[in-house]
Amino acid sequence: MKLILLGAPGAGKGTVAKLLTKMDGSVQISTGDILRAAVAAGTELGKKAEAAMKAGDLVSDDLIMGIMRERLKEDDCKSGYLLDGFPRTIPQAEALTELLADMGEQLDAVVNIDVPRDVILDRLTTRRTCQDCGEIYNVKSNPPKEDGKCDKCGGAVVQRDDETEEAINNRLDVYNKMTAPLADFYEKEGSLLTVEATSSEKVIDAIKAKLGL
Ligand code: AMP
Repeated sequence: MKLILLGAPGAGKGTVAKLLTKMDGSVQISTGDILRAAVAAGTELGKKAEAAMKAGDLVSDDLIMGIMRERLKEDDCKSGYLLDGFPRTIPQAEALTELLADMGEQLDAVVNIDVPRDVILDRLTTRRTCQDCGEIYNVKSNPPKEDGKCDKCGGAVVQRDDETEEAINNRLDVYNKMTAPLADFYEKEGSLLTVEATSSEKVIDAIKAKLGL
């Protein structure tokens, strides 16, 4: 399947994407994961993105489109993709529409995961992430078996740099200003599925119903 997963930071886009990849071999493409890997590796891309990321601001549309133009051409995208955290601005959405048209591809749906702000805030402050493989944990509801160590790969499970209270608040403001308008953009295209759900399973069920799976 080919989907865009829209939703605020902490809405559960990554968790839903990971569950969907197990259904049909689609790949999860998270621009946030790609950027974090670039920062960790100290590449040119990482150096350009680092300051904006740490503050919870957006990285430039040009940089993001450069990444996505290459990423969507890779072989593993042939079995489908779940876009997690991209597009995040109207110019990115417009550029993606053009890119997909050039590639002769069409999305199955744009899924807007709508979660109340208090739930989001609680999730983000308690979220922990494996530095090596990106696996997501939560100190309250889903801690790693061994404190600070990833169950899957043994990597260090840490709080992200942009998950301080200040950066979280900024990320949510940036989301409301820059990304929330994408719901309207895709509504007009007729491809939007909005799911008001705090459980990933409910989101998956709604996607399956929409796609007739
Ligand atoms: P995420 O893991 O999706 O929350 O992304 C972490 C950070 O990476 C964001 O707060 C932005 O600084 C940057 N980022 C990720 N995806 C994008 C995007 N599509 N456009 C601009 N910045 C992005």
